[in-house]
Amino acid sequence: MLDLLIIGQGLAGSLLAWTAQKHGLSVLVIDRFRKNSSSRVAGGVFNPITGRRFVKTWMADDLFPFAEETYREIELETNRLFYHQKPIYRTFSSTEQRMEFLNKIDEDDPAPFTPFLFEKGELSKGVIQPFGGLVIPGGGWLNTEKFLSSMHDKFISGQHLFVSDFNPDQVKIKADHILWKGFKTKKLILADGWYNQPTTWFSHLPFLPTKGEVLTLDVPGLDLDGIVSKNGFILPLENGLFRVGATYNWNDLSFNPTQAGREELIEKVKSLVSIPFEVVEHDAGVRPTVQDRRPFIGWHEELPQIGIFNGFGTKGVSLIPWFANHFVEHITNGKELLAEVDVARVRASR
Ligand SMILES: Cc1cc2nc3c(=O)[nH]c(=O)nc-3n(C[C@H](O)[C@H](O)[C@H](O)COP(=O)(O)OP(=O)(O)OC[C@H]3O[C@@H](n4cnc5c(N)ncnc54)[C@H](O)[C@@H]3O)c2cc1C
Repeated sequence: MLDLLIIGQGLAGSLLAWTAQKHGLSVLVIDRFRKNSSSRVAGGVFNPITGRRFVKTWMADDLFPFAEETYREIELETNRLFYHQKPIYRTFSSTEQRMEFLNKIDEDDPAPFTPFLFEKGELSKGVIQPFGGLVIPGGGWLNTEKFLSSMHDKFISGQHLFVSDFNPDQVKIKADHILWKGFKTKKLILADGWYNQPTTWFSHLPFLPTKGEVLTLDVPGLDLDGIVSKNGFILPLENGLFRVGATYNWNDLSFNPTQAGREELIEKVKSLVSIPFEVVEHDAGVRPTVQDRRPFIGWHEELPQIGIFNGFGTKGVSLIPWFANHFVEHITNGKELLAEVDVARVRASR
């Protein structure tokens, strides 16, 4: 009998399965390949200082070192490189904004991610930087495509991945185990992101899915060693191209790239760089975002054999490694789940 049957091989399912195996659990992952899954479309940026308030992100002191350790360990195991630590250049749009951000850092130093100033002209030619900006340390980007394909190959070679559509109607729930297509497991965990329907068995959860679009660009002559961010980002990929993101749309939850999304992104590019560019690719996906901005981790109220590991929203790259470990420690040692992320915070009857 398996310990865990995990549905989904996005960032959530991959990292949960890897962590569970590391703790000695037997695991099988089920996934139907989708080119436009949230994890595949993601920009992959991790940034410890975000938002208009320019403060350290939630649990950054724990999450960021843990994520680095995890991705580095997987890089060594799979013999591939996908985790890139890079400076994040947050450009200012006015002298007022420059003063505002500097005052904020003075008042509330976000150490160890304390940003430092750069002056106009210090970044490569072509980056719009009339008021200079701040260099944020501790950030970077994960090449999510490469990470997922490395995990795919690793799981396939160990026979821990079954490429198939998962249909909940085929599940037989017994008192102390679950049966699905001839597999027997102690627990079934849904790490299936957002696909146009509320997660089965958890349809009461207040997901607030957000569509996002990104562009891949050719920008001849742009030489960037880090990520430039303002009200979007541009990051240098490994193949000489650049990724630009991202849009946020709560109304259209289709998986198609749109003309409006493209135009919005082109405007973002024009506010970041002054060099002519060409759009090479345009992708869209839907983020599994949640009303209270906290993931859903834990067990079904009445069916404790069924669990969920979802809702990582806009920050899956930095959140998932730590929370995969948190969930596995709960499964193996009974460690209590943080109340903030425990799916039990939402009652089905509400
Ligand atoms: C445009 C965009 C930009 C983003 N940028 C960033 C960023 O810069 N940094 C960041 O940290 N995060 C970013 N995100 C968010 C990030 O992508 C998510 O937090 C994260 O990828 C969610 O991973 P997941 O595994 O929960 O979901 P998913 O990636 O959706 O994975 C779910 C998996 O489950 C599988 N699946 C679903 N249903 C079934 C079924 N019935 N049968 C079989 N398989 C199934 C799918 O094939 C998929 O592989 C971005 C998202 C988007 C859309």
